[in-house]
Amino acid sequence: MLGLAAAIPAALTPSAARAGRDDRALRGQARGKARNVILMVSDGMSFGTLTLGDLLVRRSTGKPGAWSTLWAQPGTCRVLQRTHALNSLVTDSAAAATAWGSGVKVNNGSVNVAADARQLLPLGIHAKQHRKAVGVATTTRVTHATPAGFYANVPRRDYEGIIAEQSMDRGIDVILGGGERFFAPSLINRHPAYQFVRTKAELQNARSDGPLLGLFAESHVPYAIDRAPTVPDLATMSLAALDRLSRAPEGFLLQIEAGRVDHAAHDNDAAALVGEQIEFENAIAAVWAWLQKRGVDDTLLIVTSDHGNANPGLSVYHDDAEQGLNRLLQPRKSFEWIGEQLAEVKGIDARLERFPALVREASGYTLTPADLDLIARVLREQRVTPFEAQNKWPSVLGGILANHFGVNFISPNHSADYVETTAIGPGSELVAEKARGSGGVIDNTDLHAVMVDAMALGPGTLTDDMKTPMPVRGVIKPD
Ligand SMILES: [Zn+2]
Repeated sequence: MLGLAAAIPAALTPSAARAGRDDRALRGQARGKARNVILMVSDGMSFGTLTLGDLLVRRSTGKPGAWSTLWAQPGTCRVLQRTHALNSLVTDSAAAATAWGSGVKVNNGSVNVAADARQLLPLGIHAKQHRKAVGVATTTRVTHATPAGFYANVPRRDYEGIIAEQSMDRGIDVILGGGERFFAPSLINRHPAYQFVRTKAELQNARSDGPLLGLFAESHVPYAIDRAPTVPDLATMSLAALDRLSRAPEGFLLQIEAGRVDHAAHDNDAAALVGEQIEFENAIAAVWAWLQKRGVDDTLLIVTSDHGNANPGLSVYHDDAEQGLNRLLQPRKSFEWIGEQLAEVKGIDARLERFPALVREASGYTLTPADLDLIARVLREQRVTPFEAQNKWPSVLGGILANHFGVNFISPNHSADYVETTAIGPGSELVAEKARGSGGVIDNTDLHAVMVDAMALGPGTLTDDMKTPMPVRGVIKPD
């Protein structure tokens, strides 16, 4: 069974096999048109998040956002994408990244490991077998589920030490993001060919040749609104990756992820959320400008999300909406920062005493006695909101601040929403074709087939370390 899986060309993955004759004919024309593929992901981005990012970019610059600018380009393909996992209508990032990475639906929590414990060939490794250079650039830990979907095999997404080893042992050419705590000195020393950088300045001054490892935080890269200037933003990381990968003689595959849009959505933290989405908009603008300047039409760019999260929306009228957006544009601190300050204080009463000053510093809003009563009750584990999952202080604070920013959330969880998917460049017609047979909505697994076909990758082979089944042990928390 394992040998058979290894021998199946990736173009015959289940999603490709489902496709009809027209699709096969079109693949014949479009196949191999893209020398390079760039997949840009705003992780956990509901449509409301895309809208808020676009509204705020328009407000602060007077111009449309970079993503909506792509929609107006000739030849751009826009479709919706289904995101469900094998065992859940609401996916986590591991199952969603696996759908892109290997074209197979898996259970939540697994990265390129099928429900029957078989390991699946990740797209990045498949691409390397055909001499493509491969990179990931993210604001999460580089060992987090979405980047891991391009290069790793683990039955549980929280095996991040193993994922770190796989990233370097499997020779991923550019690895940029957070997560230094999972890269033991012995691992880094085992790979002397990698340049290792830890600050924005070191990244910008790094040599352009050879593999590059950039780790800019112990854990996730701090939110844009909390970040020190020594930490690179996603646009800087993206351009550094493109500069190196574009030197590869046979082309490249790059995943760029605004990974913390998802985290801010989980926290119902509107200010952090829009900061991360604007960061993503800036990264799209940088990548698009890079492609335009390069002037060669050989790169397929796909911009999308892996799932919705928390479904935020500007939901107040008239001046309140105007004021809310203006307040979101002021530099602030995240709920994560509030949580870090609270962690230094012991006991509920002491934390309640700190709360108003922290909220004022983070958001500019002064809690009323009624607001503080809600916070006190939720800290004492009393039910404050009808939806059980929102009875945590960040969700309650997010609801209170909806009176300040005008943005409210339905949940602190992922959602089953279809997600926006934009494709431009050679191979984008494959996305349109996938959608044509299914009412304008593609499946997340379809994007795997699109990327394989666009680059015309030949058959891939499971490497020796991918031939042992990996059964799941224990319960994995979706994220
Ligand atoms: Zn999440």
